[in-house]
Amino acid sequence: MMGIARRAVGRILPPAACLLLPLLSLSAEDVPHRLAARAHADTPLMTDLRELCDGIGGRPTGSVACDRAIEWAAKKFRDIGIQNVSVEPFAAQSMWLPVSAEANAVSPAAFNIRIAAAPMSPSTKGTIEARIIDAGEGTLADFARLGGTVRGAILLIHSTEMKTFDDLFAEYMRNAVLNDAVRKHQPVAMLLESTRPRGLLYRHPISLDLNYGPVPTAIISREHAERLARLAEKDEVRVRLAITNKTAPSYESKNVIAEIRGREKPDEIVLIGAHLDSWDLGTGAEDNGVNAALVIDLARAFHDLGIVPRRTVRFALFTGEEQGMLGSQAYVARHKSELDKFAAVVIFDTGSGHLSGFYLNGRDELRKPVNDALAAVEGLRATGHVTDVLDGTDNFDFMISGVPNLVGIQDPIPYLPDYHAESDTIDRVNQREEKITEAVAAVLMWSLAENPDRPAKRQTRAEVEKLITDTKLDEQMKALGQWEDFKAGKRGW
Ligand SMILES: [Zn+2]
Repeated sequence: MMGIARRAVGRILPPAACLLLPLLSLSAEDVPHRLAARAHADTPLMTDLRELCDGIGGRPTGSVACDRAIEWAAKKFRDIGIQNVSVEPFAAQSMWLPVSAEANAVSPAAFNIRIAAAPMSPSTKGTIEARIIDAGEGTLADFARLGGTVRGAILLIHSTEMKTFDDLFAEYMRNAVLNDAVRKHQPVAMLLESTRPRGLLYRHPISLDLNYGPVPTAIISREHAERLARLAEKDEVRVRLAITNKTAPSYESKNVIAEIRGREKPDEIVLIGAHLDSWDLGTGAEDNGVNAALVIDLARAFHDLGIVPRRTVRFALFTGEEQGMLGSQAYVARHKSELDKFAAVVIFDTGSGHLSGFYLNGRDELRKPVNDALAAVEGLRATGHVTDVLDGTDNFDFMISGVPNLVGIQDPIPYLPDYHAESDTIDRVNQREEKITEAVAAVLMWSLAENPDRPAKRQTRAEVEKLITDTKLDEQMKALGQWEDFKAGKRGW
């Protein structure tokens, strides 16, 4: 889905100097270097990514393509030779899959309009035609000014160009205001101006709480939105719109889990995860095929090098992430009785940009063990950790269950400009940086699974509640529809 970081309250410490090497036997000491060397060498990571992105393509959860990706990933793990591979089904609600979306201006000028249906948008009933109302940026003041003129019209909502993660965050956070205003003022549809120029379209979910939006909603190309707005200054502008989506109250998807059993403490678990699903306009290369391929290749690395650490390592590919982390939520619920045994969870979900460190998700006590773990790859400069708490990817349900969790901090380039867009294809991937990320991830996973001590303890519910309050994460959880479930004990601790 996305990365939304909250500043943790409290001191942010500088990266600790790595003076203490973990105590390992001589042969074990070689392992990090062998893993890092392998990641830098020629590996099948990019070949796998081609199969996933070019061969299968965009794969929204519940789609035929997503089911193919699940089968593909399970077969990959089995072909590597991993003994324990499981495909774990879970029940999901509120299926939304795109079918078609068309729009054209009929007067005062006739032209085709590029649109992409917003996930969770309802369908139009056949083709509708209505006048355009320019509602500015769709603030409460804009709606107050427009009053009754909105009823029965197609709303045109302007956007500023997205340049940073904060801009992206703002685009999500205004959904609630827009949907509330739509319910009150009753337009027949809503067109949201693309935040990316040159005709680029992307999937922007209009709701993340599994409720469908109030009216048919689509992203409209920036250039077409501006043309409609200029025309609407003088004339009544009429637009035809037809959006068809496939929806269902419930459906099933699956997580793919591979496991290398620990040699001494097989019941203790270190998990590395990435989401396998994606939106469909592009082929989900940066978000998040490249990191799904990394997880698969890491399993291959451990298997091929014959590495069996002290603890069990699990390689997890979740689906339903784009719909609100449904797969990892289901995974945590399914494995609830095991959560005390999870030593750490590591998630990657921001493409192939340079890895500068990890989100510690409010757990500053993780800084030292992570730095110790990364001592063997100190030269790769992945120790710029931040204490920030992240909501919006697959660490979330582990975090609110108290499990120590890390999310890779990666440069927003190349991920961000192509986020959920037609242009998220394999051409964008920075192969060199991804190999470095794999080297860091491999060494980190090895150390977390091998070190005699666990990196941190599991937090109690009271400690998780304090972390949420201290970091004001509750505001975000409310906006993303997660708060009530946490409070009611349905999600997390
Ligand atoms: Zn993602």
